[in-house]
Order: sequence, then C-alpha cells, then structure tokens
Amino acid sequence: MNVILLGGPGAGKGTQAKKLVARLGVPQISTGDMLRAAVSGGTDWGRKAKEFMDAGKLVPDELVIAIIKERMTQPDATGGSIFDGFPRTVPQAEALGRLMADLGRSIDHVISIEVDEAELVGRLGGRRTCKSCGQMFHVVQAPPRKADVCDACGGALYQRDDDNEATIRSRLATYDKATRPLVEFYRQKGLLRRVLGVGSIDDIFERICAILS
Ligand code: AMP
Repeated sequence: MNVILLGGPGAGKGTQAKKLVARLGVPQISTGDMLRAAVSGGTDWGRKAKEFMDAGKLVPDELVIAIIKERMTQPDATGGSIFDGFPRTVPQAEALGRLMADLGRSIDHVISIEVDEAELVGRLGGRRTCKSCGQMFHVVQAPPRKADVCDACGGALYQRDDDNEATIRSRLATYDKATRPLVEFYRQKGLLRRVLGVGSIDDIFERICAILS
C-alpha cells in the first residue's frame, strides 16, 4: 500500500508514519530524515541542503526527487511505502505520479492531517527527538520519563536545529505557499482524505486506520 501523509510541520506525520510502518509492514520514506542524515554525513549536497533547511525553506525539487527515486527502488519499498514529508510541491507530486506509473505502482490514499497553526507552533517549539531511534517527545505534552532520555531505547534526545521560533514561522509560511496546494491537487484526483490531527496519538492513528481499511 502506498500512502502519502500531508500536513504542516508538527502535524504528526512522522509519529503516525512510524505507527503505520508497524501496522502495514511497509517502510516510512521521510525526505526530512534522509536530508538530515545527509547533513550529518557531511556530504556536499548535505551541506547545500542544510542552508535551505536552516532557513525554513524547501530543498530544490530536483534533489529531493532524485533521493526519492533512489529510495523507492530499494527492495524493502517494492510492496509500498508511507511517504512522510514528500511530496511538498506540485512539481514533486507530478514527479511522484510519473515514478509510480513507471514502476507500475499507484498511490492508494493521501491523508491530510489537519492541525491549526497556533497548535503547530506550540508543538514544534517543545519537540524533542531521539538521536538513536527517532521517537518523538514534547517537553510539556508528552515528556519522557527521564529528562532528555528516550523512553523507548534510552538514546539521547535532541532539539532539531530548525525547531526554533524564526525557522518555525518560515516553515509554516513555506507550507502555506508551496505545500497546501497539494490538498487541492489530490482532492481533484479523488485521493484526498482529511483527518483531525488533534487528540491522543492513538486516537489519530485509529482515524487514519479507519480510512485505510
Ligand atoms: P521535515 O523533517 O519533513 O519537517 O523536513 C525538514 C526540512 O527538510 C524541511 O523544512 C525542508 O527544508 C527539507 N525537506 C524535507 N522534505 C522536503 C521535500 N519533500 N522537499 C523539499 N524540502 C524538504
């Protein structure tokens, strides 16, 4: 099954994608995670991508599409994927459509996780992520049992470089301008389903699963 998760930064795409991986047995494809890995790896294009990421801007389509193309053809992704944070622009969505067609696959569902902007700002500012397993926490809404330590694996928690107030504002503006049009893009294709992204993580997950079944 191929599922796209749409939603603003902090809407819960990554959290829900991880739960869907466990439920559906297909991998999460997160361009944000892949870009951060390239940044930590210190590759040339990782350095270039970091400038855009730190400014809350989108990394150029060509680069992201090339990464996706490579990832989609890896063996674990042949049975489907959960796309988290991709596509983020209409050209990316069009490229994904072409790639899917070339590979004889199709998008089954596009889920728009809807959360209002004030809530997103609060979530992103307090977000902490595990360096080892990627599990996410929030200093107020979902604190770890021990400060700065992951409940799931004991790894160290960190705050993403782009989860500061100035970059958060810029990411939200970028989302409105470049990514929100995808809601209409996929609605016109008859693929879009909207899910309220507030409430407990498990409740939101059940809303998503109800659509997928
Ligand atoms: P995320 O982890 O999905 O919030 O992504 C973090 C940052 O990586 C974004 O603010 C962008 O700078 C970059 N990024 C992630 N996915 C994409 C994409 N599909 N297109 C362009 N830039 C992306």
